[in-house]
Amino acid sequence: MIRFEQVSKVYPGGQKALSGVSFHLKKGEMAFLTGHSGAGKSTLLKLISVIERASAGRVSINGHDVAQVSPAQVPYLRRDIGIIFQNHQLLMDRSVHDNVALPLLIEGFSQKEINKRVSGALDMVGLHGKEKHNPIMLSGGEQQRVGIARAIVNKPPLILADEPTGNLDPKLSMDIMGLFELLNDAGSSVLVATHDLGLIARMKYRTLTLKQGQMLFAEEHQL
Ligand code: ADP
Ligand code: ADP
Repeated sequence: MIRFEQVSKVYPGGQKALSGVSFHLKKGEMAFLTGHSGAGKSTLLKLISVIERASAGRVSINGHDVAQVSPAQVPYLRRDIGIIFQNHQLLMDRSVHDNVALPLLIEGFSQKEINKRVSGALDMVGLHGKEKHNPIMLSGGEQQRVGIARAIVNKPPLILADEPTGNLDPKLSMDIMGLFELLNDAGSSVLVATHDLGLIARMKYRTLTLKQGQMLFAEEHQL
């Protein structure tokens, strides 16, 4: 699904974010990505979603080298990726329904199909019946779940989450992780960036660890 081969990223201005990173996330696999703040987690996710481009090395998604993807093709590649941020960037002046429907409108589904899928996604995140609410009326945890519903509404084969539980209490964090497990069971590959080691320890997934832009080997992960 995702393959990094000796990938480096230097931002304009010279800030090194990743150096010689190699790893493979298999189709249908769920894994955590961890490391201190500034270790390069967000940058790694941005290279996968082609928000940023690698300075060296090769990033492939489903066997396609993303360096070959032209700017015009990037939106098509992103349709296959559900991206979840800590700051969920909801439209506060639109209803929950409209927020979640956004990715489907872009793809030109019928109103009937949109309603069916939006309601399915809201069911999945436990927000059934909140369609007409504005996100501003919801709690932080509920808003986060609206963001997740929006990211999964078109059933993407790949889900990327950047500190998805950053603002949530431990109970809500576990609920959100449970959601990712459900999505993974339903066939999506899932990569979750988090510095919440307690959360990782409570789950059974492989952990990729970044330290100052470098990926540690499996036996170094406990360090
Ligand atoms: P995180 O929660 O992942 O640690 P940061 O606070 O490091 O996030 O970064 C927040 C946002 O600011 C990210 O989109 C990141 O790419 C961007 N950013 C981080 N450091 C810099 C920087 N030195 N210059 C410009 N943008 C930055
Ligand atoms: P993390 O998500 O693990 O906190 P980031 O990928 O956000 O790490 O950042 C890795 C390094 O790259 C940090 O030193 C950060 O300041 C820098 N960085 C991130 N985004 C930018 C940016 N847009 N411009 C310049 N430097 C950045």
